[in-house]
Formats: sequence, C-alpha cells, structure tokens
Amino acid sequence: MESFGHVIGGEEVASVGGATFESVDPWTRAPWATVALGSAEDARRAIDTARTAFDDGPWPRMSFAERGQLLHRLADLIDAHTDELALADTTDMGKPIAQTTSHDVPRSARNFRFFADHARITPAETFPMPDGHHAYTRYDPAGVVAAIAPWNFPLMMATWKIAPALAWGNTVVLKPAEQSPASATILARLALEAGLPPGVLNVVHGYGPSSVGQALTESPDVDRITFTGESTTGRVISRAAAGNLTPVSLELGGKGANLVFADADLDHAVRWAIQAIYSNSGQVCLAGSRLYVQRGIYDEFLARFTAAAEAMVLGDPKDPATQIGPLSSQEHYEKVAGYLDVATADGARLHTGGRADGWTIRPTVITGAGQRARVTQEEIFGPVVVVLPFDDEADAVSAANDSPYGLNAMVFTRDLARAHRVANALRVGTVWANCFFVRDLRAPFGGAKNSGVGREGGTYSREFFTEPKAVVMEIAAS
Ligand code: NAP
Ligand code: MG
Repeated sequence: MESFGHVIGGEEVASVGGATFESVDPWTRAPWATVALGSAEDARRAIDTARTAFDDGPWPRMSFAERGQLLHRLADLIDAHTDELALADTTDMGKPIAQTTSHDVPRSARNFRFFADHARITPAETFPMPDGHHAYTRYDPAGVVAAIAPWNFPLMMATWKIAPALAWGNTVVLKPAEQSPASATILARLALEAGLPPGVLNVVHGYGPSSVGQALTESPDVDRITFTGESTTGRVISRAAAGNLTPVSLELGGKGANLVFADADLDHAVRWAIQAIYSNSGQVCLAGSRLYVQRGIYDEFLARFTAAAEAMVLGDPKDPATQIGPLSSQEHYEKVAGYLDVATADGARLHTGGRADGWTIRPTVITGAGQRARVTQEEIFGPVVVVLPFDDEADAVSAANDSPYGLNAMVFTRDLARAHRVANALRVGTVWANCFFVRDLRAPFGGAKNSGVGREGGTYSREFFTEPKAVVMEIAAS
C-alpha cells in the first residue's frame, strides 16, 4: 500500500486526529493507498498556513519572472515524473494509462508553463484622460485561493486552477476529490522540490460535505473559491460562499450536443463523435453525450458509429492498449448502470453496449429515446450516448439548446456559413466545429446555464484570481 499525506506549510503531514481512508483501484476493486483523512480542523490549519504565506511570505511579492522560473521548474518536474503521476491517476480512478501519459500529465505541465508566461507578458490597461489625469489597472493577487477538484481529470483539473492562481501571486489550498487523492500529494511534493516557498501550495484530503470541502468554502480567510464538479455541488458551494461574499468560479456538469449534418465528412465526424463520448469512459464534462444526426445520413452514420464503438478495447487501464477502463468507483458504476435501466423503462433501446465485468460499462448507444427522456436530459457521466435524428438546421439548434446544461456543443458540416450560424445560435460556453477538445488556453472556458458561473483561461483566469484595482493619478494640475 502506498501512503499519501496532506501537504501543509512545506511538510507532508497526517491528520490532526490521525484518521486515514483507503483509495480503491476500480480495476482490482481493492484498496491500493492509505490517505490522510482530513477534517475541518486540518482545513483550517492549511488555510492559516496559506494566509500567513500570503500576508507575510515572499510569494506575492516576487516578480513575475521569479515566480515564473519556479513554476517552469515545477512543470519540468511534472514531465520528469510523468509515469508516477499517470499511474497515480489511473490507479485511483481507472482512466486508461495511454490517456494519463499522453494527455493529462503533459497538459498539467503545460498549464504551469502557459500561466507563468501569460502572467509575465500580459499588459495591463492605462486610460489616458483628457483632463490632466490618467488611470491604470493593477492586477493584484486576490489572496488565499481554495481549489476544489473533481475525480475525472484529477491532476489536470487541479493544475488548471492552481497554475493561474499561483502565477498571479496567490497562495492555494487544494482539496482533491476523495476518489483521486494521490496525484495532488505528488504534485505538492514536486512543488517543494521545485523551490516554491512552504505554505504556497497546500493540499488537504478529505470529504466535501460537513468536512474539509465545507470548511474551505465557509472560511472568511479564503479570498477565492474555484470549484469544478457537479451542478448540485456547485449550488451548495455558492450558498456557503455567499456567507462571506467570497467570489466563486464554478465549472459544472454538461450534456454536450453533437450535431452531425448530412454534408459532413462522415469518417471524420464518426472519429470525433466516438472520442467525444467514449474517451475517459465518458466521464468528461464536455462529453458529446447527445448525438443528433441529420435524417438523410442517420442509418449510415449509426452503423459506422456502432461498428467503431464495438471495436474499442476494454480492459485493465494500466495496459497501454486499453481504451475503455472501469468507471471510477462502485457508486458511480451503479449510477451509470442504473441509467441503462432508466432508458429501457422509458421505452428506448440499447442499440449496443451494456454492462461488462467488474465496474466496466461497454461503449453504449441508446436509440429511440425522446428529447424529454431522462437519458437525453440528465448527465449520465459514463460511456453512454443517446442518438437522435433531426430534420434541418432549426431542429438541430433547438434540440441542442433544449437542455438545462450549456457547457459545450459540436457541429460537423462542410458548410462554413452554417458552422458559424449554428455556433452563434447555441447557448453554450464552447462550440467545436469539425473537431472536439482542442484548446487554446487563452480562450474563455466555462459554461452557460447550469454548467457554470464565470470563465477561466488566459485573461479570464486573471480577472478571477486577482483584485483588479484602478489607480487614478493627476499628471498636471490644471
Ligand atoms: P462532485 O461530486 O461535485 O465533487 C467535486 C468536488 O467537490 C470533490 O472534491 C468533492 O469532495 C467536493 N465537494 C462535494 N461536496 C462539497 C461541499 N458541500 N463543499 C465543498 N466541497 C464539496 O463532482 P465529481 O463527481 O467529483 O465530478 C464529476 C462532475 O464534475 C460532473 O458533473 C462533471 O460534469 C463535472 N466536471 C465539470 C468540468 C467543467 O470544467 N465544467 C470538468 C470536469 C468535471 P468529495 O467528493 O471528496 O467529498
Ligand atoms: Mg460526484
């Protein structure tokens, strides 16, 4: 069994009362690591440490170049520890090792490099005033940031929050999800090795409700809360934060619509549609879980898509050939499997897929579900896609927008004007045309409707993790 502690004030420590919990490998369904189980008291210790590091320590007072150098060193250490970090996430929550190694870990290193450089080179505005004054903007660090992360991209989502927070001079307390704690401790160890001052990046493990998560969101000493997770949790966190009027950034659930028009390059659309729903076993907020196909190509598209889904390799996520691993936990497996029964009870059909051994679900296609069916409206968060036909562009747009979520959508068409029109008409945070998941870290990332509040990425992260201050100065007495 491996062991992972909290990291507070530069030390890897046990919980105040010594409590621990076990992290379960969803492939073997056996515990593989012992993890410190924090309480509200451990959270307060971490907040106090981060507060002191912010109020009295060097970090917020360093130049962007000095901080950037340390963050680049951390990125290099992440790259050098790719295998260890990839295996930690894969063992904790079952995502295929090919994905953690080739995507999640490199992207985590890139998050640090990008935000370090972005903070260093991004100019601030000046506002020359015609009356003998000028105004300019300072982007001062906000203070102590609480980062609460989900289990589906453990390292990547944590670093997407920590990197901009640190680059802009804040100190951080990270709470990873209890299903995926290991990579957070490894990251904090590497941050110390890179030379980040003690107390700048702290990690506290433990549960959300009535525990570490709640203590972080209710603390008056926390200046920003950045949360990624379920929409229902987002509401709870928003209410807790309101007590102190703490600004909150929420990246929440999704039910991405994928619109495939008859004029699309079908091979290309099938390839992306498969990736959009089945990568990470569908445990992706951005998953293209509602696949709308224009009626003229519906049968052919469905046949090609089904063949590709059935060809996917299921198995041990630690095997580099595996494409579909187990779901992250027994509880989550039962939730996703339950939706297969919901679908059939509602009169829809399992066109392919269904339960496999252990906590694995085969790539599943549901047909014959109505637009109002639960499987069409609710986030399943597994390898389950609902395929529905549409007639024309207006139908496609109105079906896509008929959702409580508004995180993202995809459109496949060779008609450039149509791609722009549809992108304009969709009420979502991101539209991908003829692609999926491609990211420019300068672009806004976040969701409309129940998919979130606020945006992160580039200057959007700067707005959230700083306290923009206007300074107005007289230049000449008039
Ligand atoms: P979750 O159940 O909402 O949990 C997310 C985090 O919040 C965990 O660390 C959890 O702790 C913590 N938490 C739970 N209750 C809390 C409370 N009352 N106060 C403070 N913290 C609390 O989400 P998940 O199941 O881990 O992740 C899946 C969800 O995340 C999906 O809905 C997915 O769409 C969404 N997601 C969104 C994005 C995006 O960018 N929009 C990206 C990835 C995932 P414990 O569970 O450890 O108790
Ligand atoms: Mg959850």
